[in-house]
Formats: sequence, structure tokens, C-alpha cells
Amino acid sequence: MKIIIVGAGLSGIIAANEIDSAKHEVMLLEKSRSVGGRLATRRIGEGKADHGAQFFTTRTDIFKEITREWQKRGLVKEWFVDHYPRYMAINGMNALMKAEAEEMNVVLNQRVSQFEKKNQKMLVHTEAGSVYEGDTIIYTAPLPQAVEVLEQSDLEISNEFMTNAKSVQYQKCLIALVSLDKSIRVGENGIVTEDLPNGIEKIINNQQKGVSNTPILTVVMDGDWSEKRYDLEDEAIWEEILESFFEWIVEKDAIRSYQIKRWRYAQATSTIEGGFIQVDGLPIYLAGDSFIAPEDHATHTRIESAVLSGKSIADHINKLDNE
Ligand SMILES: Cc1cc2nc3c(=O)[nH]c(=O)nc-3n(C[C@H](O)[C@H](O)[C@H](O)COP(=O)(O)OP(=O)(O)OC[C@H]3O[C@@H](n4cnc5c(N)ncnc54)[C@H](O)[C@@H]3O)c2cc1C
Repeated sequence: MKIIIVGAGLSGIIAANEIDSAKHEVMLLEKSRSVGGRLATRRIGEGKADHGAQFFTTRTDIFKEITREWQKRGLVKEWFVDHYPRYMAINGMNALMKAEAEEMNVVLNQRVSQFEKKNQKMLVHTEAGSVYEGDTIIYTAPLPQAVEVLEQSDLEISNEFMTNAKSVQYQKCLIALVSLDKSIRVGENGIVTEDLPNGIEKIINNQQKGVSNTPILTVVMDGDWSEKRYDLEDEAIWEEILESFFEWIVEKDAIRSYQIKRWRYAQATSTIEGGFIQVDGLPIYLAGDSFIAPEDHATHTRIESAVLSGKSIADHINKLDNE
């Protein structure tokens, strides 16, 4: 079968890795300039900063095994322990994804807009007018984005399915990446999550974390704060962050520059149980961190959810083949 995976984030990359390549041809279509999705690292001058997920925990045996492999390959390491070990990617989260996707057939800058069923094949249309033909589609972006693509597609999909898909909600997240002229200490390990000014969820010093050569802070604003200010201009967002930020950082003169990053779909606040769903008997599957797999006993979605979802859709495809 030819399988088209839409989205080269963590779940898409894990799925591509786990699908039996001796039997299937796998292609990934990614809207951005790089793979990784919310495992994102931005270069700023001589330094860099993780501006999506900062760390991950491993609760299931499946993810513990994958993490051990990543550790052996020198891609991740334990960062600190807070109840559970927290792992980080050694050269930034995006480098982990690039290493994983190195051998994969990924086509970048392809924003998928529509699916079409033609004869026995599935066609994937992009906004720029390209068309890719496959047998099966795996769509891995957050479900609200999947809903948009399905609504633009001329397919017979039940109201029941769409209502279920629409039940998944995400919270927004605003991030400020702040370059400093001199190093400061941020907690013991380069991260602070408690006793922060109103609206700030966490602050990370990427230099202290070991990701950056230069001091760059990632300031993560919480969901409520981000929701209210999401559509403001960068400057207005920065001014508000600065107001509360100064209370914490004290030395105003240390700030060299800032960038604002917006995540419309940061982390899911409501999810669907199970690793993935199939769209009404069509060869289209929705996967990603909108799903909580049965073996995952956590209540919230995160890096591990994306991994388990990618793995479970791959297992399903591999099993189909034997039927
Ligand atoms: C600010 C922030 C902080 C976080 N912190 C943590 C944390 O500390 N620990 C943790 O465990 N998790 C954290 N998370 C969540 C974690 O990053 C995600 O759960 C995980 O990365 C999701 O992976 P995914 O593959 O399911 O989705 P994504 O990473 O979103 O991948 C989907 C991919 O699909 C692409 N795409 C979307 N639409 C289209 C389209 N139409 N056509 C083609 N491509 C498309 C996107 O560009 C993206 O690359 C955080 C997330 C954010 C944003």
C-alpha cells in the first residue's frame, strides 16, 4: 500500500518509523519548512531556544523503550527529576525530530487542504495545487485542523463522526523568546514553574538547559492569558509580558531582544480515548496527541500521547496487512 501521512510532527514520524517498510511505501507531507511540529527549536543569533515542548516524561513501557534507544543514540538525556525523570533533547527538540526523519520521504511546504476518493485511490490535495495519490491517509495534526480539511473535502462523513471529532479542544499558547546580554540563573536546572508572576507558566534558560551557546529565555504564558491576548500585535503582547516579567527578572538592562511565537493548538484540553480513529469506513485515519491510547493512564495529552498514537496507528496498518 502507499500510505500518505499528513504532518511530520512526532506522531507522524513515529508512525512512519513503525509501519512495515518492506510492505508499504510511506510518504509524509508537512506544511512547514521543517519537520517536528510542536517539537520546535528556533535559532537566534549564535544561540537557539526550544519554543514548543520543553521536556517529556515516560510512563509506558513502549515509550521507555523508545527513550532508551534515543539515549543510546545520544539524542536525549535526563534533564532533571520532579516525581518522574524529565528528558530533554540534547541539541534541542527539533534536532531529535530531524534525526528521526533523516531517512524518510518527507515533502516540506505542503499544506494539505482536501482529500478526494477517486476510483479505489485517495487523492490528497494541497493548497498550492499539488495532488498526491495513495491508498491510505493518516492525518496527524490536532483534530480541529483535521476537521477543517474534512469539511473542505467532498466525502460522505456522518454527523456523528464530525461531532465526535469536533469535541476535541486545544488551548492556545503564547511564547516569548528573550535574548539576554548576560547569563542569569533560572532555578537549579534552568527551569522555573512555580511562584511566577501572573500569566507566566514557566521560564526556561536555554543556555543553562544546555541547548544554547547564548543566554535565551523561553517564557511560556498560560492558556487563559494566551487565549485573551492571542490576536494582539507582538509589541502589545511583549509589553504586557515585560510588565510582569520585570518583577521576576529584575535587571531590565540585560534584555537584548525578543520574539513572540504563537501556538494556536498547544495542548489538548479534551481528548478522544483510543490511539486513533478511522473516518467512517474510509481509508483515512486521524491520529496524534488528540488521542489518549488505552495503555496510557495519564489524564492529559503530551509528547507520550503523540508517540503512543503514532505507534498504535502503525500497528493497526501492519495488522491490516496480515488479514
Ligand atoms: C508551547 C508548548 C509546550 C509544550 N510542552 C510540553 C511538555 O513540556 N511536555 C510534553 O510532553 N508535551 C508538551 N507539549 C505538547 C507536545 O509538544 C505535543 O503533544 C506533541 O509534540 C504533539 O505531536 P503531534 O505529532 O501529535 O502534533 P504536531 O507536533 O502538531 O505535528 C503535526 C504536524 O502536522 C503539520 N500540519 C498541520 N496541518 C497540516 C496540513 N494541513 N498539511 C500538512 N501538514 C500539516 C504541522 O505543521 C505539524 O508539523 C507542548 C506543546 C506546546 C505547543
